[in-house]
Amino acid sequence: MIDYSRLPTAARKNISVRVKSAAERALRQGHPWVFEESIQRQSHLGNAGDLAVVYDRENNNFLAVGLYDPLSPIRIKVLQALQPMRVDRGFFAAKLREAQAKREPLINEGTTGYRLVYGESDGFPALILDRYGDTLVMKLYTTAWLPHLETLIGALEEALVFDNLVLRLSRALQSDRLNIAKLYGLEDGQQLIGAGAAETVAFVENGLLFHADVRLGHKTGFFFDQRENRQKARELAQGRRVLDVFSYTGGFSVYALAGGARAITALDSSKPALETLKRNVESNGYNTELIDAMAGDAFANLMQLTQARRKFNMVIIDPPAFANSRASMRNAVVAYRRLVEMALRLLENDGVLLMASCSSRIPAEMFFQLVERSAMVAGFKLEIIEKTGHGLDHPVGFPEAAYLKALFARVAQS
Ligand code: SAH
Repeated sequence: MIDYSRLPTAARKNISVRVKSAAERALRQGHPWVFEESIQRQSHLGNAGDLAVVYDRENNNFLAVGLYDPLSPIRIKVLQALQPMRVDRGFFAAKLREAQAKREPLINEGTTGYRLVYGESDGFPALILDRYGDTLVMKLYTTAWLPHLETLIGALEEALVFDNLVLRLSRALQSDRLNIAKLYGLEDGQQLIGAGAAETVAFVENGLLFHADVRLGHKTGFFFDQRENRQKARELAQGRRVLDVFSYTGGFSVYALAGGARAITALDSSKPALETLKRNVESNGYNTELIDAMAGDAFANLMQLTQARRKFNMVIIDPPAFANSRASMRNAVVAYRRLVEMALRLLENDGVLLMASCSSRIPAEMFFQLVERSAMVAGFKLEIIEKTGHGLDHPVGFPEAAYLKALFARVAQS
C-alpha cells in the first residue's frame, strides 16, 4: 500500500522556460526532451516534478509542458506539446485509454502480457507500465513522477481494468543517495494496489503460458519486447536442437518447443531465472528432460560447448544491453562479434541464427552490418531470413526510443 501523505508535492507555481531555437524546433516536431543546455532562461529553480512550461521566444505562445527534472540532463520531460492542456487525472486517464486501445490487437492473438505504456512514445516520459493479466507493473525512472503519483494512480484506476499494481524502481532510483525508501516509503517491488500478487504472476503470450516474478525479476519480470521474434523463432524451430543463449525465464525456449524443437540448451547467469524457465516449460505441457539448463557466464559456457564439439541447428542470442552509454560502445561491439563467431561455430550446416541487440547506442544498420561482417570474417555465409525491430506495444515515437533489432539468418560455410 502507499501513504500519499509522505510523497512530495509539486509547487503550485509552474516554472516558465525559454529554450534555444533548435530546442523549440525539436519540440514543434514532437521530440519529448528538453536538455539542460537548451534552456536559456527559467523563471525560478524548481524541484523534481514541478511542471515546467516552455513558451516560444517570438510570441510567448505555449510550446510544451513537462516534468522538471533537476537531477537529469533531460531537464524537462514533455507531457504535452503545442496544445495547452491541464495536467490532471483526466489528462493521464485519456493517454492511458489511448495506450490500451493500441494494444487491443494483441488480445486477439492470445496475449495477456504486454507493455501497456512505453515511456515517452505513449506520453509518459521515463515511465513503463507492463500488464501481466490482471497485474500491472509500473516502473519509474525519475523522481519527477513522485509528486504526481496519486494523480497517476487515480488515472490508472479510472482508465484501466486490473487487480494489482506493483511498483518497480530503476537502478538510479534505488540508490542510497536518493533514499526514496526512507524519505517517501517507496520500495522496489512494493505492491501499491491489490491483495498481494502471488510470488509469480501468470500470463499468456501468443497462447503460451508464462510465469514472471514481477517483484524481483529483471526489468518488470519479463521481456515483452521479444514477443514477435519469439513467434518467428517458433516458426523456424521444427525438429531443431536449439541453443538459447541469455535465456532468462525461457521465452524463446518455450516457443521453440511449441514449434517442434527436439531439445533445448539454455544458458543464463541467473539461477532463479532458469528455475522459472523449467516451470514455464512444464506449464505448457513439455517435458523438462528436453531442457539442459546451464547456469553461469554465457561466454564461458559457449566456450565449453565449443570445446566439447557440441552442435545445434538453431542458436538464439539475446544478450543484455552491452552499450547504453557511449563509453561502452567499443566493448559492446567486441562482445557482439565474439558471440556471433561462437554461435556460428556451434551451428550445423543450414542452421538458423537469431542474433538480437537491445543496446540503444548501437543503431540497427550498424548492428546488422556488424553481424554480417563478423560472419564473413569467420568464414560463414549468412542467408538473411528477416531483420526485425519493434513490436506494436513498444512504439517508436521518436528516434531515441528505438533500441531493439534482430537478425534471423540461415548459415552456410562459405
Ligand atoms: N531472452 C530472454 C531475455 C534475455 S535478457 C527472454 O526472451 O526473456 C538478458 C539475460 O542475460 C538476463 O536473463 C541475464 O540474467 C542474462 N545475463 C547477463 N549477463 C550474462 C552473462 N555474462 N552470462 C549469462 N547470462 C547473462
